[in-house]
Amino acid sequence: MDSKIIIDSTAFYAGLPFRSLDKYYTTPHIADELQRIPFFNNRIETLLNSNRLQIIDPSSISLQSILKNSLNIENKKSLSDADISILALAKDFISEDYSVIVLTDDFAIQNVAKKLGISYKPLIYNGIKYSGQWINYCSGCNSVYQSTDDVCKNCGNPLKRKLQRRHP
Ligand SMILES: [Zn+2]
Repeated sequence: MDSKIIIDSTAFYAGLPFRSLDKYYTTPHIADELQRIPFFNNRIETLLNSNRLQIIDPSSISLQSILKNSLNIENKKSLSDADISILALAKDFISEDYSVIVLTDDFAIQNVAKKLGISYKPLIYNGIKYSGQWINYCSGCNSVYQSTDDVCKNCGNPLKRKLQRRHP
């Protein structure tokens, strides 16, 4: 059986769904966020029209379950509602007996996925080249770190990663 491939915003920033013919799944949370950016708006529309992207709202049962479980694992600040929606969608697919892989470079998502036994894969190991510079930052105190650091030295939060575009 094919795996359902779930992607978060880091995968979109990496351009992954635009250069592959695979079918991807994401949530309204992620799509709404990205479609506010003109660069993504048309491209996401094209993916939807060619059925290479499907936007699915996770069930409230899975959302509650991920939220509850992630609170024991992550500092709440490091996991956004969008992050939780991605993990909840994975949980929905798993409960429907699909095999699932979450493609993300977000440390907080990876960390919770690992603890909950949800398969994930970082993009940076897939030969993805970014048009910009990735920086790691703490969503608690906004400190910026080298890409080799993954925990904030001030507050101990797992760091978030964001892309700083060369030509904003
Ligand atoms: Zn911090």
